[in-house]
Amino acid sequence: MHVAHQQDFRSRALAVEARGVSVEYERTRDKSTLIALEGFDLEVREGEFLAIVGPSGCGKSTFLNVVAGLVPPAAGEIKVYGKPVTGPGPDRAVVFQDYALMPWRTVESNVRFGLEMQGRIDSDTGAKVARYIKMVGLAGFEKSYPRELSGGMRQRVGLARALVTEPRLLLMDEPFAAVDAMTRELMQEELTKIVATTGQPIIFITHGVDEAVTLADRIAVVTNRPGRIKEIIDVDLPRPRSRASRQLPEFQALRDRVWQLLSEEHPERAELAQPVPAAVGGPAARDNDPETSV
Ligand code: ADP
Repeated sequence: MHVAHQQDFRSRALAVEARGVSVEYERTRDKSTLIALEGFDLEVREGEFLAIVGPSGCGKSTFLNVVAGLVPPAAGEIKVYGKPVTGPGPDRAVVFQDYALMPWRTVESNVRFGLEMQGRIDSDTGAKVARYIKMVGLAGFEKSYPRELSGGMRQRVGLARALVTEPRLLLMDEPFAAVDAMTRELMQEELTKIVATTGQPIIFITHGVDEAVTLADRIAVVTNRPGRIKEIIDVDLPRPRSRASRQLPEFQALRDRVWQLLSEEHPERAELAQPVPAAVGGPAARDNDPETSV
C-alpha cells in the first residue's frame, strides 16, 4: 500500500518549486547582512509529506515563510501549484509551534477564525468548523477556552484552524515541539490519519529525527547557515508506521543516516573539522553569534 503511495506522489503535479532561493536579513545590532538561505532548491509534489531537518538557525522557518508568502526571497524563484508566490493566500495554511491561539476566543471561535481571515463565512461554516474540531479529536470542547486546554489540545486547535480552510498545502513549523512525548506520539498518529483523508502535501519542520522518519515520505536535510539542501532522503518504509516500526533495521539505518548528515552540519563540529585561526568573517566569527547556537 505504501509503495503505491510512494509511486503515487512521485508521478503527481508539483505543489512547490523552489529554485535558487536566497533570503537576506538585516541584523538589527549593526545593520550587517545575514544570509539565511542561499541557492535553496526543493520540489514537493501533491500528496507528499516532506520533512525538513537542519541545525538551529539554518533557515528552515525562513523557507517556510517564503512558501507562505510572508518573506520575499532576495533571489531565486518560488512557485506554489505553478504560480509564483507574491504573498499569503488561501491555498496555503501554516501551523506554528506556539499554536498562536486567541485566549479570549473559544475553541470553536479560534477554528472559525481561519475562515474569517479569508472572508469565507457562510451558512456552511458551523458544520465545517464542527467537522474539523471532531477530526482533530476535540469534540465536546467547542466552548472551552485555550487556558482550559492542555498543550496537546491547544496544538489540535491550531491544526483544526489550518485544516478548516481546506488549503492545498499545509506548512507546519515544529508543531509538536512543545508537547510531551506521549502526546507527540498520539498527534503524529492522528496527523498521519488526517492527511491520509485530506490528502494535501505537507512541509513539516522538525528537530526530531525519529519524528521525521516516522512521518515523512522524504526528508530534506539542510546545511548550516546559509541554508541550502544538503541531501534528500527517501523514506521507503511501510505505512502505517508505529512505535514498533522504530525497531526495524531499515528505520534505524535511516535515522543513523539523518543523524550523520546533521552532525556534519553542527556548527561546533564544522569548526572542529576545519581549524580556522581567528580570522574575521570565517567560521570562527560565528563563535560569538548566538543565532547559530543549537
Ligand atoms: P531555523 O528555523 O532553521 O532555526 P530561521 O529561519 O528561524 O532558522 O533563521 C535563520 C537565520 O535568520 C537565523 O540566524 C535567524 O536569527 C535569522 N532571522 C530569522 N528571522 C529574522 C528576521 N526577521 N530578522 C533578522 N534575522 C532573522
